[in-house]
Order: sequence, then C-alpha cells, then structure tokens
Amino acid sequence: MIDEGPIINSASAAEALRTLEESLRDCSSCGLCRGRTQVVFGVGSPTAELMFVGEGPGFHEDRQGEPFVGQAGKLLTELLGRIGLTRGDVYIANVVKCRPPENRDPAPDEIEACSPHLMEQIAIIRPRVICTLGRFATKLLADTDLSMTAVHGKAKERALAGVDVVVFPVFHPAAALYTPANRQVLEEDFAKLRHLLMRGLGEAHESAAAEKVTEEPREGPREQSRPSLGRVEQLPLW
Ligand code: URA
Repeated sequence: MIDEGPIINSASAAEALRTLEESLRDCSSCGLCRGRTQVVFGVGSPTAELMFVGEGPGFHEDRQGEPFVGQAGKLLTELLGRIGLTRGDVYIANVVKCRPPENRDPAPDEIEACSPHLMEQIAIIRPRVICTLGRFATKLLADTDLSMTAVHGKAKERALAGVDVVVFPVFHPAAALYTPANRQVLEEDFAKLRHLLMRGLGEAHESAAAEKVTEEPREGPREQSRPSLGRVEQLPLW
C-alpha cells in the first residue's frame, strides 16, 4: 500500500477523527469508564493550527459530551474571543477523555491509558501550537515537572506524535475564575499566544505585552506546505 504521508486535508482529517472517536465510544482501558456518562473526545477544527489540551471532563462536559462547556469553558471561549478566535477555529481536547469521579485529579495509570488517544488526535490534526491548560496537560506534553508558575507563557518546541509543535503552557482557566490575578496572567499569556501564532516564536516573547497587532490569523484549509514558525533562534526556551 502507498504511504500517502500525513493527513492534512480537512475532509480526511475529519474522517480520521470520526473513526477514532467511534473506536473509543465503548473504551474500557481504565477505571474512569465506570463513572462516565460518555467519552468526551474533543471538538473543533480537524486541521486547527492551535490546539488546547485541558485536564479532563467535569460534570457538564460529561453530560454534554464536549470539552470546556462549564464555567472554565466560558472563560476559555472569552479568552479566545479576545485574540480574535472562535472555538471552531481551534481544537479542544483533554488529557483524559472520561470524567474523574468528583472531579478529582486524573491518576497516573488513567493518563497513561488515555494519552495514546490524545497523541493520535495530534497526529491527525497536526497543530502548529498546543496550548496546555494547567499542570496535567503541561506535564504530559511539555514533559516537565516544573510548576505552572515557572513555565506559563513560555514556549517549548517538541516533537509529539511525529509532529513538530510548540507547546505553550498557560494556567488552567478554572484557576482564574475566582482569582483576578490569575485571570490577568491568563489574559497576558493569551496575548503572547496570539503573537506566537501570527509571528512565530521570536517576537512572541519580545513584544506580546505592549504592541497592538494588526494582522489577522491565517484562515482557510491548510495546504501541503506549512508556514515556518519564524525566528526560532531568538526563542528563550525553558
Ligand atoms: N476542565 C478541563 O480540564 N477540561 C474540561 O473539559 C473542562 C474543565
């Protein structure tokens, strides 16, 4: 069989995601299957340049079958709006796809069981930037044990599922719901994220806070050639 290379056509990526989602409908790879209403697979553009990864579904997500639809999700949608994006422009998923009981932290064995499916999503979508929401996604995708305080708003280049991505950790929106200082930090990090998407890594770190940006994010289906990430050599990595 001929290897057709990575899936970067929107229709085939959508089909691949549907097939993967269907294959997970009755997943019993870990104990979280016993308490869930349904698997919360992920939502958004199958060829998104920007992907968000949170921790795991909560009560509302478990009921509705979509990530980030509760209070934290409303804030995420608002933060996206502030940088000129809608939920349909990006892809949103979680480290674990089934709700942990009482919204407890996902356990290491649950993350280990579920993360291959997240990697499959990344391999299909092939995002340029993955914004990790909170410590579980950051630990998994940026491969770090550093605190969120140390790494938020800083980019790290990684190869995940065979895809070269920039991982960009931010605080989990839930941490900002009742803490104005965290919300301020999150807004500033989203401004950096916008620069990262539009200008590449170098300038994201230099000018995010002050400058008003006039370009719009790139639109339309992704073509075969992917844009360069920009002046990578200027990036202060962590
Ligand atoms: N928190 C998460 O980490 N993910 C969701 O989908 C909802 C809340």
